[in-house]
Amino acid sequence: MLTEILRELSASNVVLVAVSKTHPPGRILDLYHAGQRIFGENRVQEMLEKHTALPADIEWHLIGHLQTNKVKYIAPFVRMIQSVDSLKLLEEIDKQALKNGRIIDCLLQFHIAGEETKFGMDLQEATALLASPEFRSLNNVRICGVMGMATFTEDLAQVRSEFRTLRAIFENLKQAFFSGKPYFREISMGMSGDWRLAVEEGSTMVRIGSLIFGDRQSY
Ligand SMILES: *Cc1c(COP(=O)(O)O)cnc(C)c1O
Repeated sequence: MLTEILRELSASNVVLVAVSKTHPPGRILDLYHAGQRIFGENRVQEMLEKHTALPADIEWHLIGHLQTNKVKYIAPFVRMIQSVDSLKLLEEIDKQALKNGRIIDCLLQFHIAGEETKFGMDLQEATALLASPEFRSLNNVRICGVMGMATFTEDLAQVRSEFRTLRAIFENLKQAFFSGKPYFREISMGMSGDWRLAVEEGSTMVRIGSLIFGDRQSY
């Protein structure tokens, strides 16, 4: 399955984040030996344990909601935080990145789904954040793009339209705040059930879990 997905993704230059949440380190190591280096986790404690147990050149992406008081645990090693949804969180990431002598790559998470429960900002909130003097004073975070989750539904037209919304948000922010900044280039969208659609709509990074690892376990 991994090989097939990778073949399709490489044709469109899309990066795979293998979402390993709930799966034990041994399963991750199997994929590592098959060449996969980028893994996504949604809980800090779980990522920390796996980071400790597994090869150091794995690139860990945090994709789940992050509480400010937990940033310090992952700041020494996390490759990308995809779930940034407030200035307060970004300020804490910046502070902890500075302590570790690092610049941490982040994505802004947007709420594009119909469901109430999914985290994320809207364009107006993100614009206010990026225009604020507080944000401009941060030197140890780098905003590399946007992330979003579509509604979990069979209605493909709705999913497509949500992906289009995220892409439009990306283009809007690029023009307003990141023109001439090549690092602002990621549109992280697409999961097991909708990744092909996401790629059609301009995704640069898909986050696939169950399609690769099977059903979630109780880690
Ligand atoms: C779990 C998760 C995924 C992967 O979901 P699958 O349907 O298992 O592919 C992707 N993105 C986020 C934010 C997740 O929490």
